[in-house]
Amino acid sequence: MLTLDNMRLRKTQKILRQVNRLTNVMSKMSDVELKQQTNLLKQQLNSGKKLDDILPQAFATIREADKRVLGKFPYDVQVLGGIVLHQGNIAEMKTGEGKTLTATLPIYLNALTGEGVMLITTNSYLAIRDAHELGKVYEWLGLSVAVGVNENPNYNYTVTEKQEIYRADILYTTNDAIGFDYLQENLVASQDKQFLRTFNYAILDEVDAILLDSAQTPLIISGSPRVQSNLFHIADQFVLTLSESTDYALDDEKKHVWLTDQGIEQAKRFFEKPNLFSTDNYLLIRHIELALQAKELFKSNHDYVIDKDEIKLLDVKNGRIMAGTKLQSGLHQAIEAKEHLNITQQTRAMASITYQNLFRMFKKLAGMTGTGKTNEEEFIETYNMTVIVIPTHRPMIRKDLPDKIYVNLPEKLYASMSLVKTCYQKQQPVLLATGSVEISEIYSQMLLREGIPHNVLNARNIAKEAAIIAEAGQLGAVTVATAMAGRGTDIKLGEGVSELGGLAVIGTERMTSKRIDLQLAGRAGRQGDPGFSQFFVSLEDDIIIKRGSERIHRYYKKFAEQFNVEKPHELTQHRFKTSVNKAQFSEESQGRVARLNALEFDESMRIQRTLVYEERNKLLRMNRTLEKELLSAAHREIDNFLRQNKQLTSNSLKRYILDNINYNFKQSDSILDPDNFHDVASQLLKMVEEELQRKREVMASTTQTINFQRVCVLKAIDVGWIEQVDNLQQLRLVVTDRRYSQKNPLYEYQKETIISYQKMCKQVDKLVLKNIMLSTIKREKNGELTVSFP
Ligand code: ADP
Repeated sequence: MLTLDNMRLRKTQKILRQVNRLTNVMSKMSDVELKQQTNLLKQQLNSGKKLDDILPQAFATIREADKRVLGKFPYDVQVLGGIVLHQGNIAEMKTGEGKTLTATLPIYLNALTGEGVMLITTNSYLAIRDAHELGKVYEWLGLSVAVGVNENPNYNYTVTEKQEIYRADILYTTNDAIGFDYLQENLVASQDKQFLRTFNYAILDEVDAILLDSAQTPLIISGSPRVQSNLFHIADQFVLTLSESTDYALDDEKKHVWLTDQGIEQAKRFFEKPNLFSTDNYLLIRHIELALQAKELFKSNHDYVIDKDEIKLLDVKNGRIMAGTKLQSGLHQAIEAKEHLNITQQTRAMASITYQNLFRMFKKLAGMTGTGKTNEEEFIETYNMTVIVIPTHRPMIRKDLPDKIYVNLPEKLYASMSLVKTCYQKQQPVLLATGSVEISEIYSQMLLREGIPHNVLNARNIAKEAAIIAEAGQLGAVTVATAMAGRGTDIKLGEGVSELGGLAVIGTERMTSKRIDLQLAGRAGRQGDPGFSQFFVSLEDDIIIKRGSERIHRYYKKFAEQFNVEKPHELTQHRFKTSVNKAQFSEESQGRVARLNALEFDESMRIQRTLVYEERNKLLRMNRTLEKELLSAAHREIDNFLRQNKQLTSNSLKRYILDNINYNFKQSDSILDPDNFHDVASQLLKMVEEELQRKREVMASTTQTINFQRVCVLKAIDVGWIEQVDNLQQLRLVVTDRRYSQKNPLYEYQKETIISYQKMCKQVDKLVLKNIMLSTIKREKNGELTVSFP
């Protein structure tokens, strides 16, 4: 059958044949000749050839080098994968097919331009490992390689080190590192502190984990604390007196919670505030909302763990601790209050970006994953990447058994445990995959009770993760892991395991998407190994409760009480299977909608961030004095002041001058004379011109003047923008609350963001004026200048 995929693959196969035709030529070359290929290829590019033209020769070169240096000659299917990656698409290659080696082909080809190639993974351990291992080949061929993360997570690179890292032809790094570096780069005060190059070409390893699963958590650099609130504890105490449905309500998806009329009355009594909704009580209301959310929407061991008296957030999908991440806008503190911990400082967002928008900045983006096809539409829509399924090197013989469905959780637990026991008794290794940390702990306890030794992979022992996963294929191994833990590490079968049927993957529930189910099943059956996967479902699983049909809920209610764990009753009718699939599909759609929604909301931020960063970069590169810009900012600000103070009094004018223009302003100055009010603007501007002139004279050189003037503007932009980033975050929460007043939250949000951007621009003008006028310059004894800003 000629499907679209086959057609695409045929074109790719034609290129593969061109690569294969060069295999013999390359294998006959001496090491010296092979290494010279790099320069020859670069010359071809310089003389106008395109990357596509030199692809066969470059792929054949690195393929032969892979063989000589690493002892691994990329298979034909890996070359196919490499071509797909070069073309800026997603190569779906099953676990164990050798994605790491595949990537060397397009990386080498694209690095020949010297514009930089990045291989980005979610896991710094893998980035470091691969850079060291594959770095040998690239270096052998005369290209430079760097790693963007350090083994010591607390290590801070110097600017020089960063510049060197990003100058490398090839960079292995993580999505976090590149994201934070990007934000950091745009907070520096001079060009010599910048280190990034234009984002050229990136290959995302486990692309679905980065672009789908992490899509909704923005990266945030936090800074200066807000004023600390003391309302968290009292709000927490208050919500403990409330009961669900009478005092407050939850929506179906358990994403929003709000007080009912009765709850509002209760609050008025509790806080003795008859006018609860007056503007003075805004903060109190906000804290009650936060406390309710903390109580109902965040569960210990599911959304977070308490580690050394600190709240650590969990990535709900894989159970990993999200290091250094805090919930914004007081939610983190509300959870601390609920757990009776010390309330930490509230920080505010200084810079923020989502992965979606970070990676859309690359000129060319490609990805690899074992599971991408199910989400192809979204990849095309958002990133313009098609998903191409690469055939496996050896035929796949894993058996994916149909789900086993039960009414109750205990029946399901019992049934799944008995399968684990059967496998364990014959020493067949088992990977028990759970949907949350909580469930993984329940299974661990059950295994203990059965006396079955096992490893648990969850948030608390991430360091050993790769090592444990690598052991998971040994005789008699039982490994309990949350859905995505240990992704990217290959499970090799131990001796004698093939004969027993290979690795058994037992899913304890259907996950939040088909894609994640497939990811789990794919841990077994690598490179033609035997193995099987089997998922267990109960009508009490989260996904069924949340997304199951009315009919299935009715069925559950009817039979909920009738069970016998000794003889679990399996629901075999077809309609149950369809129902489970439908529930999962509906959950997936919800995820897709949420990601799209996040992208739409992020669009205002993206546009504004791009404008601000462009302006900053222009300033950093500017090599002339900025008098013109400074004076027009001052002009706009003064105009604005006068327009807002049509009834100018000598008092208000004096206040304005003291606050923004001159601390030592004298009462007797003629500008305060009402007769002179008609040309206040030009007089104030004259003061600005004089001050600029005065400061220029103090400076020893034009360079110093330029630097000073640049910093006046940069500081103003940064203060304004940091506040704006924080505003936008807050605004999102406010419009979500407004949802209940039946307005379109996205529209409301966009409207407000434009208004607040305009306010920010005005504020920046004012700060520029203050920075010029109120800064002081002191000359030290050694001739150095120190500038203090207001
Ligand atoms: P994936 O990331 O696709 O799951 P890996 O990149 O971890 O797979 O590779 C799986 C294993 O197969 C590794 O041990 C790797 O060294 C080996 N491998 C991959 N390609 C080849 C090859 N062409 N020849 C020999 N071994 C290979």
